[in-house]
Formats: sequence, C-alpha cells, structure tokens
Amino acid sequence: MAMIGENVKNFLRTVPQTNPFGEKITVVAAVKTQSPEAINEAIAAGITHIGDNHVQEFRDKYGEICGNPQRHFIGHLQTNKIKYLVGRCDLYQSVDRLPLAQELSKRSAAAGVVSNILLQINAGNEQTKGGFSFGEAEQMYSEIKKLPALNTVGLMAMLPQSDDGALLHGLAAQMRELYDRLAAQDGNFKYLSMGMSGDWQLCVECGSNMIRIGTALFGQRAAT
Ligand SMILES: *Cc1c(COP(=O)(O)O)cnc(C)c1O
Repeated sequence: MAMIGENVKNFLRTVPQTNPFGEKITVVAAVKTQSPEAINEAIAAGITHIGDNHVQEFRDKYGEICGNPQRHFIGHLQTNKIKYLVGRCDLYQSVDRLPLAQELSKRSAAAGVVSNILLQINAGNEQTKGGFSFGEAEQMYSEIKKLPALNTVGLMAMLPQSDDGALLHGLAAQMRELYDRLAAQDGNFKYLSMGMSGDWQLCVECGSNMIRIGTALFGQRAAT
C-alpha cells in the first residue's frame, strides 16, 4: 500500500503543469478493482479526481472514500443504471450514444440537477469500443446540446492499443481538432480527456488536458 502513495507522488511529479496549449492537466485516477484503502492512499498522496468503470463499484465504495475527490464515471453506462449515479457523479466521461444522453438528461431533470458530461469519441473506429465516430460527432453534439439537464464540457477518447506512433499521433491530433472546433462555439468546453498509463505523454503532447491513469498509480490489475 505504501507503494501506491509513492507511485502517485512520483507520477504527479512527472506530469507537466500544462499541455502545449497552456492548459492545466487534470489527472483522474482510474480506480476500477481498487479497494477503498488503496484509493484513499492515492488521495492522501495528491489525487483529486477518481473515475470508476462499474456502477456497482461506484456505489459500494462511494461512502468509503475520504478527502472529497471529484467523482467521475468512465465506463460503459447502461441506461437502467443511471439512477444510481445521478446527483453523485461530478463528470460522466463516457456518454457514447444519444439514448444514454436523453435518459441521463431526463433523470437529472427529475432529480433537480444538471449533469456534466463528456462525449466519448471512438477515435480509432474500433468495434470493441463505444463512442461517436468523427463523422457523426458534431451532429450528435448539436442534438445533445438541446437536452435541458446536461452540460457538455468536452470530449473523451481511448486511443487504440498500437505501437504505431504515427497512427496514434494522427488520431490524437484529430481529437484535438474536433475539440477546438466545438470549443470555438461552446464556452463550456474545457476538457479533452485522452491518455492512459501507456499513451498519456503522446496524448498530452497532442493537446489532451485530462488523463485517466490506473496501472501507473496502482500497479498491474488482477485479471477480471
Ligand atoms: C482502466 C481505464 C483507464 C486507465 O488504464 P491504465 O492503462 O490502467 O492506466 C483509463 N480509461 C478508462 C476508460 C479505463 O477503463
């Protein structure tokens, strides 16, 4: 456990203050499968944002987390589970389809809250990943913008697993271009969430300002 505190401090020292666009970089700890003790260790060492992938884990651990970090949801979200998150999640990073956005807006309105969201983009056009394609992203942004109880504050993407640096740079740069186009018309845009333990440096170089880090903070996860 002491390892986690050290990993976190070392990692936070490694991350530059700003990306090449001069934007502050926010580190979100990806806490799937981690115990509340491990997460609290990371928070004590400087983590201020945590992201869960599974609603069950989000709920089970919710009351056990100390230090009042920002709570993000970063995994695939089924519409029938939204009710467990509404009012407790500071940022829904993985809004990857219109019906999910519609239901989240409906549930948020009923609870009297406005939910902050990112639109997930399937940058590598991978069948195994959710998200809007580059081609449909702007149209979907416009549709989702009409929903009353959502506040769209940026974009999220997971790049493909690949050793092809040129390919990854190209996709990350395409993400930044899309982000800039939308941010130019929407003053609420502030987050481009892109980058994990293996690719965050490349993503930050290309203009990401939010990175989601699991393995580099907590070590290798047990297979699930
Ligand atoms: C697990 C996960 C991460 C972090 O992955 P690591 O490679 O362990 O850093 C980031 N984003 C999402 C959506 C994840 O599920």
